[in-house]
Amino acid sequence: MAKAWQCFIGLGLLLASLQGAVLAQQTPLDRIEALQALSEKDNADALNQLVALSPSMGSITPYAVRRDYLNALIGVQVDAAKMGDADATIAKLQALAQENKDDIGMVLATSRAASMMALAGKSEAAIVKLTAIEPIAFRTANPQALWNFYSALGNAQLTVGRFELALASALKGLQFAKEHTQGETAAHMRSLNLIANVYMAMTNWDKALQVVQEGLVIATEAGSVKLAGTFYLNQGAIFTSLGRAKPALESYEKALKIGQQAGLVGLQGTALNNIGDGYLIAKNYPKAEVYARQALLKFQEAGEMGGVATAQSNVGFALIGQGKVKEGVSEVRAAIEFNREAGAKADQEEILGELGRMYEAAGMYREAVATIREQQALTAQLFRADREKSVATLQEQFDSVQRQKQIEWLARENSLKDAEISNQRLQKIVTALGAVVTIMGGVFIFLLYRRVKKTNQKLREANLQLEFHSVRDPLTGLFNRRSFLDLMGRRSIDSKTGRRGDDNPDGLMILDVDFFKNINDTLGHAGGDVVLVEIAKRLNNTVRDTDIVMRWGGEEFLIYSPKANTEHLKSLAHRVLKVIGETPMEVAGKSMTITVTGGFLSLPFSGLSETDCNWEKAMQIADMALYLGKVNGRNRAYGLNRLLAPFEQVMPVLERDISAALKAGMVELVEVLGPQTEPQI
Ligand code: GH3
Ligand code: MG
Ligand code: MG
Repeated sequence: MAKAWQCFIGLGLLLASLQGAVLAQQTPLDRIEALQALSEKDNADALNQLVALSPSMGSITPYAVRRDYLNALIGVQVDAAKMGDADATIAKLQALAQENKDDIGMVLATSRAASMMALAGKSEAAIVKLTAIEPIAFRTANPQALWNFYSALGNAQLTVGRFELALASALKGLQFAKEHTQGETAAHMRSLNLIANVYMAMTNWDKALQVVQEGLVIATEAGSVKLAGTFYLNQGAIFTSLGRAKPALESYEKALKIGQQAGLVGLQGTALNNIGDGYLIAKNYPKAEVYARQALLKFQEAGEMGGVATAQSNVGFALIGQGKVKEGVSEVRAAIEFNREAGAKADQEEILGELGRMYEAAGMYREAVATIREQQALTAQLFRADREKSVATLQEQFDSVQRQKQIEWLARENSLKDAEISNQRLQKIVTALGAVVTIMGGVFIFLLYRRVKKTNQKLREANLQLEFHSVRDPLTGLFNRRSFLDLMGRRSIDSKTGRRGDDNPDGLMILDVDFFKNINDTLGHAGGDVVLVEIAKRLNNTVRDTDIVMRWGGEEFLIYSPKANTEHLKSLAHRVLKVIGETPMEVAGKSMTITVTGGFLSLPFSGLSETDCNWEKAMQIADMALYLGKVNGRNRAYGLNRLLAPFEQVMPVLERDISAALKAGMVELVEVLGPQTEPQI
């Protein structure tokens, strides 16, 4: 109660200036959030009310409130297409964050600024700007800042055709949206929208439609006209691509209506443009021209230069369709030029393709071929970027597969390879035929080109599948916890069939970095990350080929060593402690000696069946052994050889307190010391 009352007093002036009904108990942050929620329904009203709050956001207002206020205002200004105002507010937020030396504010301002750059067609520059602040964004560990960051990055990556990266950023954004303390639904919807956009760019219509439907449900429930409008737009675009003209038009008209009602100029522009697109497809060129011109005006009003270029190219196509070829081509060329300057290769490629098709339809084969060749050069560039990435992924896959042959990941790698190989082969054919085609006319190349594009699509999808079902830890490249659970899942099936015996047990060794919090404090979180990567590398270099090193959690690693007896495990522990602790690590110009503590045992453990002591229990015991190592001074590993008393008697003690079990002489323990460490037992 006392808190609410204080807030009320502090807010007197602020509340008096508000329009509409206001609850006296609302804190300023609640108020801002309420206005953000309102903006989803009525952007213009929310903008007015936010602007009316401005005088109360003076220097006596707490910094965090002013920061959130400015951030909310920017979003609403952008949606109202008040780009100049939004720029000014971003500058204010930047200055305020700098004055308060606040990373969160800095990340918010930079992300917003980058989004504006991307909207103005400067996506590459936006990516550079965002990449530069990624460590800071990460350091804030603030979901709101991280959401803004990844959303801006994903959008920019999408514009320049880096679809996999865009999808990865969008998914990260979605994750942080869920952790939002404020405006969770709005962030969630926007992330879904970005994901849908990426799928659409990748022509994965099923997935795109699925995401859009999900978004529409949420937007409708939340009464968000802004997002509902956007989702309808996307729905329309997907229907169009699926050749379903009628539902597409219906979706666009819904979007247009929402845009008009809510005063969302950009949304109107896009809806009009897409309706025009539908008429282009239906070859109703005069109508297509009318809509494209209307869209052009709306985009100009909204300051969305990318939209202007798209509408302009559509005006051009409509003109060409009506036989005004010269006039039309000059419009299309202007749009291509805009996209070239903006680095929007995917858009540029698409327009060129369309222009080629228009030439072809008009019987102008020479121009068609020339345009397609131009497009081909661009496609090759886009392909190359994709290929480099796939090769890197393949390499990583290959390394792992060598270690752990005949597991199911091989199948995925193969499908990736197949796609890669057939893609390369088709591309070669296309290039070879390029010369011949100039003479033969433009028809065949179209067919082939489409196939290449489709295969490339397969490749992208295979890549994506890999990312989705990822068994890798993105930081270290090691297998992650999930992969171990999979492995153990298969093991329990094996153990049920009774094929596992005690004669060749597998080793489990869990490791935890010593004083990692200090390392983070000294080197920063990014420095801590570098240490984790280095540890992963050293571990990988020291284990046998058949062993698997995994990232078990934050700074915990797990080594799974198949068919390893006690002696082998002991020597492995010795090597591990040595390879980590003996040579200091160089991070950010500092040299630090890092050590780890470990616990290990064999599975099956001490002749017990895996029904009595399954892998989970074994991990628990290994963890206890590790803990003992921490208590006894770190930089050492403890291994449990065997039980010295009956299982029923030992297990309850062991699971609870390993040192009690040790004192009672119930277990045989080995101690392995790291470099320059005193023995404890
Ligand atoms: P101890 O020797 O007892 O293990 O001390 P410790 O400082 O290592 O303690 P603890 O294991 O509890 O600390 C783990 C720390 O690791 C806390 C967390 O901030 C940090 N951490 C977890 N995941 C990551 C990561 O991905 N990167 C970085 N840089 N730090 C991480
Ligand atoms: Mg730990
Ligand atoms: Mg630790």
